[in-house]
Amino acid sequence: MTDIASLIRPEVRALTAYPVPDATGFIKLDAMENPWNWPEAHRDAWLERLRTAELNRYPEPRPARLQALLREVMGVPEGMDLLLGNGSDELIQILALAVLGQGRPLLSPEPGFVMYRMIATFCGLQHVGVPLKPDFSLDLPAMLEAIAEHRPAIVFLAYPNNPTGNLFDVADIEQILDSTEGLVVVDEAYHAFSSRSFMPRLGEWDNLLVLRTVSKMGLAGIRLGMLAGPPAWIAELDKLRMPYNINTLTRITAEYALEHHEVLDEQTKSIREERTILAAALAALGLEVFPSEANFLLVRTPKGQAAALFEGLRQRRILIKNLHAPDTLLEDCLRITVGRPDENAAVIAALEELLGKR
Ligand SMILES: *Cc1c(COP(=O)(O)O)cnc(C)c1O
Repeated sequence: MTDIASLIRPEVRALTAYPVPDATGFIKLDAMENPWNWPEAHRDAWLERLRTAELNRYPEPRPARLQALLREVMGVPEGMDLLLGNGSDELIQILALAVLGQGRPLLSPEPGFVMYRMIATFCGLQHVGVPLKPDFSLDLPAMLEAIAEHRPAIVFLAYPNNPTGNLFDVADIEQILDSTEGLVVVDEAYHAFSSRSFMPRLGEWDNLLVLRTVSKMGLAGIRLGMLAGPPAWIAELDKLRMPYNINTLTRITAEYALEHHEVLDEQTKSIREERTILAAALAALGLEVFPSEANFLLVRTPKGQAAALFEGLRQRRILIKNLHAPDTLLEDCLRITVGRPDENAAVIAALEELLGKR
């Protein structure tokens, strides 16, 4: 008899798979997706492109045109190289695989993006989480102390941070870059909604890498992420990439979308405007709304009400994320992705009812 317990690593058996609830028939405001699909006017031209796909052939291993378009649209500085991933999650995994075996952990502030910890665990790496301050800014002394103590191979900084939505202080990040002998990956998954970026600063530190994805800007379905940084790092990481990780349909679709990136720019701009409107409406309901430079809002409910509000919304076919955990920085917190105006209005109407404001 083959025994699961004797073969599968204990840390893997202890994991629960990344939870993705079934959202059929729901207003879906839980996963930071762009609520706007690709406009009808572009569909025929895009489908024409897809007709040219040679599905019998393996994909281009290093798609040059796609890379050139990404460089242009994402503003990658001259002299920096790119590594493409099947989503930026794959790039986080490649980074982890590249550094494991030296006893040095991954480090990131918490609350933060859960995949840093999960991927560390998959790879048999230790993960060190350093608590943010109650206002979700970096606790710089704690970060520097943890870096000195644990000598992390990689520090991950989501910028803006997920699930809190804020940008960390630039001077704090500069100090972290100066203080660690490890890599610092600035994860800009929400760059399209943010006023700041470390992309233009690539090259200023030889340990700085910038991670981006097209998922949150409107192409979550195609799974495409990119890591930008100094050629020497990218060359090492590239060895761990599966040879054909960017499939042909993704490549063709991404090329088309990036050639017409003004469509995505319009959509992300309207999402930023909706964010302001939604934040004001949530605050008017008496919820504490944290400042956000992303396409979602973190809100704190009155004490003890997060679970009931989440459940009340779910019963009204609205899906958001419940982040409440007792005695943590996210106590009483919910995360709401900014949706279309009608979807946001539905959330507000439902919350008014649930909070007895109507
Ligand atoms: C969503 C998210 C990602 C993952 O994006 P994919 O490219 O879709 O894998 C990475 N980092 C952060 C901080 C995110 O919120």
